[in-house]
Parts: sequence; C-alpha cells; structure tokens
Amino acid sequence: MASIFTKIVQGEIPCEKVFETDSELAFLDIMPNEIGHTLVIPKLEVLRLEDLPQSHAISLMCSLQKVAKAVSLAFDGIDYNLILNNGANAGQVVEHIHFHVIPRSEGSPRPFQKHIQYADREMQKIGARIRNYF
Ligand code: AMP
Repeated sequence: MASIFTKIVQGEIPCEKVFETDSELAFLDIMPNEIGHTLVIPKLEVLRLEDLPQSHAISLMCSLQKVAKAVSLAFDGIDYNLILNNGANAGQVVEHIHFHVIPRSEGSPRPFQKHIQYADREMQKIGARIRNYF
C-alpha cells in the first residue's frame, strides 16, 4: 500500500507545498514541532536512507539545502535542526524517507540531551567496526 507521503505526491491527500522538483517534494508538517516545521521527501517511496539510489540521495540533499535555507530566511535567518528518523527505533512513523527541517530559536529544546561515555578502548573498536562496512 502506498505511504501517506506517496498519496501526497500523487495529489490524493492535500498538503501545504513549499517546494517541488521532479524527484522531491517539501511541505509543512501537519503536527509541527515548531512553526515552519517542514518535511522534505523524495518522491520515490523508500523506507530508509540507505535504500535510496545514490543519484536520488544527491538530489534530495540539494533540495534539502534549498528548503532549509528558505525556511530559515522566512523566519529572519533562524537556526534549524535537520532530522531524519531512520527506522522505527529512531522514531520513524511514516515509512517513506523524510527529512524534518525544524526552526529553532533561543530556548528551543536541544535534540541531543543524552550523552554516554565510551569504556576504555571502546571508541577505537567501534570506529573499526563501522569502517568495516565501507
Ligand atoms: P516521523 O516520526 O519521522 O516518521 O515523522 C512523520 C511526520 O509526518 C510527523 O511529524 C507528522 O506530523 C507528519 N505527517 C504525517 N502525516 C502528514 C500529513 N498528511 N501532512 C503533513 N505532515 C504529516
């Protein structure tokens, strides 16, 4: 079944569109974290960032940069977070990749409140583990 975002792309569900290319769409989040909270999606319906063909990923990043700049300028050059919830445990609800552009002003909640500490030599081991997959 098509994702809710595919239905938006196909015009079956309305949205407050702010930007569109042949392969991306950006529209306002219906339950915003902050005023101006915008979603940037590839029109291609894929679940996770790593599933997106590289050419689409590059195009998505170009659109994301443009949309983020426009959102910022629309609020006097406001700061913003770019957030991608990639998978259910990361908070992804809609199973169609989407970047959140969330304006942040003084006093806005910080997204990274939690910090942990690596054990002795653990950082090097984790680095090696990740490098293995390139
Ligand atoms: P996530 O938790 O990263 O999957 O975020 C999904 C986001 O999509 C949430 O912030 C929702 O408010 C937003 N959303 C869901 N349905 C719609 C819709 N029809 N139009 C705009 N935003 C939507």
